[in-house]
Amino acid sequence: MAGDSSGDLSRLESLTRLIREVDAAPDIETALRLVVARTRDVMSADVCTIYFTYHDSQRHVIVATNGLAPEVVGQVQIGFGTGLIGMVAESTTAVNLAEVPEELDKGFVQQAGAGRFHGFLGVPITHRGTVLGVLVVRQRTVRRFEDADAAFLTTLAAQLGGVIAYARASGDLCTLCGPDSAQAGRFDGLAGAPGIAVGTGVVVYPPADLRAVPDRPADSPAREERCFRDAVEYVQREVRRLRQDVDQTLSPMDRALFDTYALILDSPQIVEATVELIHQGNWAPGALRQTIERHTRRFDEMQDPYLRERGADIRQLGDRILLHLQGQAGTAVEYPADTILIGRQLSTIDLGLVPRERLRGIISAEGSGLSHAAILARALGIPAVMGVVAPHLEQWDGQEIVANGHRGRVYVSPGAPLREEVDRLIDEERVLAEHLKSLRNLPSTTTDGVAVALYTNAGLVADTPSMLASGSAGIGLFRSEVAFMAYDRFPSEQEQVKVYRQVLEAAAPLPVNLRTLDVGADKPLPYLPIVEQNPALGWRGIRLTLDHPEIFLTQLRAALRADVGLGNLRLLLPMVTGIADVEQARAFIDQAHQQLVDDGVASVRPPVGIMVEVPSAVYQAEELARRVDFLSVGTNDLTQYLLAIDRGNPQVSKRLDPLHPAVLRALRQVVDACRRAGKPVTVCGEMACDPGCALLLLGMGYNGLSINAAALPRVKWAVRSVSSAQMAALADAALLLDEPKPIWRLVERLLREAGLERLVQRADGEGNGAAAGTAIPALRGATT
Ligand code: PEP
Ligand code: MG
Repeated sequence: MAGDSSGDLSRLESLTRLIREVDAAPDIETALRLVVARTRDVMSADVCTIYFTYHDSQRHVIVATNGLAPEVVGQVQIGFGTGLIGMVAESTTAVNLAEVPEELDKGFVQQAGAGRFHGFLGVPITHRGTVLGVLVVRQRTVRRFEDADAAFLTTLAAQLGGVIAYARASGDLCTLCGPDSAQAGRFDGLAGAPGIAVGTGVVVYPPADLRAVPDRPADSPAREERCFRDAVEYVQREVRRLRQDVDQTLSPMDRALFDTYALILDSPQIVEATVELIHQGNWAPGALRQTIERHTRRFDEMQDPYLRERGADIRQLGDRILLHLQGQAGTAVEYPADTILIGRQLSTIDLGLVPRERLRGIISAEGSGLSHAAILARALGIPAVMGVVAPHLEQWDGQEIVANGHRGRVYVSPGAPLREEVDRLIDEERVLAEHLKSLRNLPSTTTDGVAVALYTNAGLVADTPSMLASGSAGIGLFRSEVAFMAYDRFPSEQEQVKVYRQVLEAAAPLPVNLRTLDVGADKPLPYLPIVEQNPALGWRGIRLTLDHPEIFLTQLRAALRADVGLGNLRLLLPMVTGIADVEQARAFIDQAHQQLVDDGVASVRPPVGIMVEVPSAVYQAEELARRVDFLSVGTNDLTQYLLAIDRGNPQVSKRLDPLHPAVLRALRQVVDACRRAGKPVTVCGEMACDPGCALLLLGMGYNGLSINAAALPRVKWAVRSVSSAQMAALADAALLLDEPKPIWRLVERLLREAGLERLVQRADGEGNGAAAGTAIPALRGATT
């Protein structure tokens, strides 16, 4: 009897088995076929069918069936708002009818040609709030399905949601959509570097894969060591040569990207550690794998995408060394004049190997806008799409490819209408790029002559790039923890001095806000394991350094030493929660300064500022401001803590809207407090990278913004196109609203009125808004 405990148990078993089978299915089509067959069987239904919902073409299409003729797949298409399927999808609830009214099922009956069915049970398939399809069982006779049947289908549909979302993102569903589908040939990824490019795909692969290397005993450790050192030297020479090759194209600071590789290749953590393992008995490739794995594991585990990418750098170098260790020179690749470089995980070396004049765009299946390949692409002005979900990348070789680096989207073999549209956009792009270039040497002043300070955010020495070129006022945020992650112990004072000096020298005379060590939570230090129930609310940022004076004082002394003779250092304290944090930190800064003076070092006390990124700091902003020289609001963390939304959790982070009224009110409160205390305040979170948000923040009274280098030209254009009164009016109007959506609309209206239509972000069509460099989900297409 259905509904009794033995019936429930066998259903549960079927469900568990089915979910396992779906997970193991080689492709989505097989998975869907399995679902309809098993479900029909378990429910003793006459038909089980899955529809996919295509929002572009506003229809629900049968993609799998058991019980109807196979020809209905792709053929039966129910328009939005019609019939039973429309009812399930639009109400996003299960519909269970013993007897279907004829009128409601007309479309299906006509198209499927299978006569009438009476019993009907349909449930929506959703993923993260979006309807992806409908799962249906039907009966020829009058039958009301049991509640247990509905529960079974709902549970199954919830599992299917994730599977379909992944398949849809990976382009796997294209075969199911038919040739006229809006989805066909389209693959989504992440915006890496702005711009749109069309060209011929060239797929490159690392011929050596370190991860596949086994351990083997070394016959002669001395010979293994020699071969290994030769291979490292070879790669070092290769990196040096590539650096020289790009000499003409890149600014000296951009070339520093290659220095980062050279630095890793020189590090004892890689070279000497491998040699040690060789002498413990492993052959060179195995020892190298062990070392690289040990280093990259820490990075891989980090939630912070920026830091995860540093692990990828090390892995790519490992593959390169292995290549030479195995004596393969790598086969020469032919690069056509319009190369779109494609790879699983493209490195800067891969980019460097393509003659600059032949490289139109890059596409990488792994990585993000924070990968070195993307950083280099931005410096070269080449569009990049990163993190593309596509199972068969190799098939793109030789194909015509469109890479849209604004939206993080790829089209393979686009049809004629899309090509025309893309050509039109590329023309527009060219005009925009020329325009932005013409602003390079112009000041960031509003139309009524108010100067706005635009600073850049950096984390690696190599990031200091393009900032001067694009007219930055200095480094508004240097994330010093990145340097700490590259070691397997705390870096010594001297090691830190070297890094900080490079950054301060590169920026001098412009200021550098060196943020003191901000580790913990999503940025753990591998050599300082912290186990906590609630890491985001735990031992992180200043809380940790205040508890470890030896670490804090070493960093402070290193920073002060590096500043000697330059005077552009400013210290920035992260995660300040109250007055005591500032007072204790200031005491340590005084102590570090005094120690240096006692040692005869010409140390100068630098200005000290705090990050406002914890709600308590908002409410105490005035008292805090009176105790420091400047403030900088970290909207990434502040938004996370105000809205109680984990910034690293994709399940919820799309709700992280920086234009939430509560966030705006907090931001206004901070500006007002700083004004009363007479201290300057800037914003250094990602929010400031969006031109519209930037205008709003400036309108509130922020004295400057610190943004990533890629976003700077667009923000500068926005600033130069409006008056300070327009920005203030925008802020005042926004603060009166109680929902994010109308605030986004206000922001867009100002951009349009100021002739900045092209900076308005659109979620529809192929609009090329300003999403480049934006890492906040809500900043992408937030207004639709
Ligand atoms: C912030 O929280 O806004 C910020 C700039 O710091 P981070 O992103 O490094 O935490
Ligand atoms: Mg922060």
